[in-house]
Amino acid sequence: MAVYPIRTFGDPVLRLPCAEVTEFDATLRKLADDMLETMYDAPGVGLAANQIGVQKRLFVYDVGDGPGAIVNPVLSGHRGEWEYTEGCLSVPDLHWPIVRFAEVHVDGFDLDGDPISIDGDELMARMLQHEVDHLDGRLLLSHLDRRQHKDAMRALRRRAMGLSEAGDDREPVG
Ligand code: ZN
Repeated sequence: MAVYPIRTFGDPVLRLPCAEVTEFDATLRKLADDMLETMYDAPGVGLAANQIGVQKRLFVYDVGDGPGAIVNPVLSGHRGEWEYTEGCLSVPDLHWPIVRFAEVHVDGFDLDGDPISIDGDELMARMLQHEVDHLDGRLLLSHLDRRQHKDAMRALRRRAMGLSEAGDDREPVG
């Protein structure tokens, strides 16, 4: 296993939709193992393949119930709304209150290529939506309103110039 550097805001790999996985082989399993190790090292509760620069449609997760991986995930159902202060490993140290679906249903495949379905609420639902967004080339910044987005861009510019104050120690979603 290996820990990879996590790509951050500004890296074009985070803006591109990932390609469907077609080969369920040892290479895919190794990739998922490396992604889990990278996620635990960060730490985060989810990590999408493009966050380590691999344009494949899969993510790994552990919201406290043990590790999992889902390949070619599709968000196929949702219920309610929930606001949660959310951060991203690819936008380090910044958090915003973001409203997303409270419960979601995701269909996809396990690492052997067998179909699986996941129902999630609370943090699990949040993570599932956050990671599917990553695989579609979307960052949490796209969920901010105009004012929040402006503040976010200012904070990111300050960070790039080394002017940022220390971020908070809230754990990012993924
Ligand atoms: Zn993220």
